[in-house]
Amino acid sequence: MRESYQLDPALETQDEEDRQDYLESKLRSTVALLYREAPRVKRLLDSAGIPPAQFGLKDLRRVPITRKDALSSMQTEEPPLAGFLAGPVGRLQRLFASPGPTYVPQGPASDYWRFGMAFAATGFRPGDVVLNTLSYHLTPGGFMLDSGLRSLGCVVIPAGTGQTDLQVRTASALQATGYAGTPSFLRTLVLRARELNVPLRFEAAFATAEMLPESLRQELEGFGIRVLQGYATADLGVLAYECSQKNGMHLQPECIVEVLDLETGQPAQPGQPGQVVGTTFDDSYPLLRFATGDIAALAPPGGCPCGRTAPRLKGLLGRVGDAVKVKGMFVRGSQMDEVMKQFPAVARFQAVVTREEQQDHLLYLVELAPGASTDTALLERIAESLRDVVKVRGEVQVAQPGTIGDGAKKIDDRRVWK
Ligand SMILES: [Zn+2]
Repeated sequence: MRESYQLDPALETQDEEDRQDYLESKLRSTVALLYREAPRVKRLLDSAGIPPAQFGLKDLRRVPITRKDALSSMQTEEPPLAGFLAGPVGRLQRLFASPGPTYVPQGPASDYWRFGMAFAATGFRPGDVVLNTLSYHLTPGGFMLDSGLRSLGCVVIPAGTGQTDLQVRTASALQATGYAGTPSFLRTLVLRARELNVPLRFEAAFATAEMLPESLRQELEGFGIRVLQGYATADLGVLAYECSQKNGMHLQPECIVEVLDLETGQPAQPGQPGQVVGTTFDDSYPLLRFATGDIAALAPPGGCPCGRTAPRLKGLLGRVGDAVKVKGMFVRGSQMDEVMKQFPAVARFQAVVTREEQQDHLLYLVELAPGASTDTALLERIAESLRDVVKVRGEVQVAQPGTIGDGAKKIDDRRVWK
């Protein structure tokens, strides 16, 4: 197992004063750019009475947050990107659709989502062959990891999702030493490789897009794979990543991450949970105070033996509002509402998320209206419609009337992480 980690001396080891200066100068030029080019940001700053000139870190707290779950309707009223784009659409490399639905761009920068440092911290080096298993289809995950890996000089196998046996054989034949994707799929590949008696050479893995329970990390490490995780969102790119100490995730130094108390909106104390709010400085689609809906806590300040000086997130604790992440994708109650209202035979429904064998399972319980008959064709049609909208495969099951109580949660997340 490899022990060396590349560290960016200019950005990852700067002291607090240098960090503040660096972020302030980035913020100042970003706000000037947005004020000029992005109509929604101009309106936002004008209505909050914040002059864009000489904008500093202390001014950031006065900028109203933009909630991820409001983005979809903002994009509908101001297509394509809600007035947040700085410059013409023609400068972009790609446009993606994530469930929700929300649309996100990939700007012209080569490592647009800033993954390079995160992969270096994982132990990836130039020339490593890495199997990338996030989807390249419509959603940005695959390209997010792909561009970061290539910026580091890694060779990417763009595997995407599914086709487990083919992925096992391909990773083996091409002698991949790195893996990037969800930790549960890594486990699936490793176990399947054993069944097929196909050798895999994975040494380092970057885990993202879902929780990494310590039990799963230990199981994967038992196969000789070093597993470190990163936290990213489709809108903001990577926000934090682990170092070899595995004591939380260092904030990515080229963005500002705030953790805001869920009730007061003020900065949460270290150790206290709050919503993760990110500010990024890309020159095509920078976001000011974008509220992710993720809940996390900052670790108490203090140095890290790895040499990185950025504060650390202790870990993710859940979601604000109605979205739950299942198999790496957000599932929302509102998406299910949209589907179920097409089926008058469904009186009530609830999604139940469980975890077995380190895999997420999504079950939809439906209570049928009086007189509606239980036919398999109906259940299949419901399952198919849900899959189109929610994008995560789930099983539909008829429940006895009264199973789903009044005021029951639309998504009952029964997973326990240990
Ligand atoms: Zn560290």
